[in-house]
Amino acid sequence: MSDLNSENDRDRPIPSSIRSLKDLIDTVTGRNIPISETLKDIPEQTMADILPYPFLAIVGQKEMKLALMLSLINPALGGVLLLGPRGTAKTTAVRSLLPLLPQIERSTCFYGCLPEDIEYGGIDAVCPDCAKKFAENIPLTHKDMVRMVEIPLNATIDDVVGGVDERERPQSHQRIKKGLLAQADQNILYIDEINLLTDEINDAILDAAAQGRYTLRRGMMAATYHARFTLIGSMNPEEGRLRPQIMDRFGLRVIVQRLDTSDERLEAYQRVHTYLNNPVRLASEYAAETNFIQQEIIRARKFCPSVHLSDTTAKYGIELIQKLKVDSLRADITLFEAARAYAAADSRESVEIDDIRTVSGMSLRLRRSRFMDDYFAQQLTEEEELTKALDSVGVS
Ligand SMILES: [Zn+2]
Repeated sequence: MSDLNSENDRDRPIPSSIRSLKDLIDTVTGRNIPISETLKDIPEQTMADILPYPFLAIVGQKEMKLALMLSLINPALGGVLLLGPRGTAKTTAVRSLLPLLPQIERSTCFYGCLPEDIEYGGIDAVCPDCAKKFAENIPLTHKDMVRMVEIPLNATIDDVVGGVDERERPQSHQRIKKGLLAQADQNILYIDEINLLTDEINDAILDAAAQGRYTLRRGMMAATYHARFTLIGSMNPEEGRLRPQIMDRFGLRVIVQRLDTSDERLEAYQRVHTYLNNPVRLASEYAAETNFIQQEIIRARKFCPSVHLSDTTAKYGIELIQKLKVDSLRADITLFEAARAYAAADSRESVEIDDIRTVSGMSLRLRRSRFMDDYFAQQLTEEEELTKALDSVGVS
């Protein structure tokens, strides 16, 4: 560890060979679990619903794990899109992020009022119940685990952004009910099969994600909600395509592959079997590392904005983008922010060229538009024809 961490001196029940979040991911993914012992345990299947599969117990899929980690460290990355066939542990991986995140302050109110709403919008920004609580010095929030908020395939736009609360009958008492986007504030927003949602819903989600807030208007009523969430989408390309404009708005794109070797597949099967028989047992196997990662994410999040990107390193990245003929400006932002998060995960004060190389695939792939390539080629031909015409007309 560099002396950057001296202020965070704490007990780390982790092997001394591991010096960073990055090392941890590299190391633990190869670990074996003594299966013969775990099979003796009594099944506790109901726990599987509550306790997520441990993130570090996911076999292989290094790039997916890295991309998800980076998105937790640096919110400026703008989300992760996981592309792959069914049965490649995409949803499992997203759910397994929950125990890695520090606890948040959650509203105790149906309308999700927060103390910061009063800070920004005055006492009228919260519901009458919360205004009363606030006046009586009763807390409006309690500490809670981060949740995964999922957008179901049959969700309507009102489900997503919010709508008039039907429970309140008299019109004078009507209030707007929070939608899934507002509920996802400070949580993880997961959109499985994003390619099957309507454009209207995708646009609403991506706009809110980019702004960190959104305003909803219904008749005479309007409300502004926080929407600061980690956005993760997944899709199976066999089941339909995603508009390139939507695809481009995701910071990182990971192609999730099926496991290659029979050893990996066996390992994955055994770990899942262990988990289904006794999720507590598997979670406790990884408890030390899970706790370590949570601490490291808190540290890296704080540290990330101060990670320096030199002109030389930035130029290397820009040359790479130009060579790949990527037009999207989001490519530059994502590449550098991902490299910054990667350096932060490794406790380094500045980004190195190797960081750029490591995150380049997930930042730059699937950004080129075949349509734009063709469009520019056609334009070039037209310009040449125009020049030729200008040169030939009137020349006798
Ligand atoms: Zn309230």
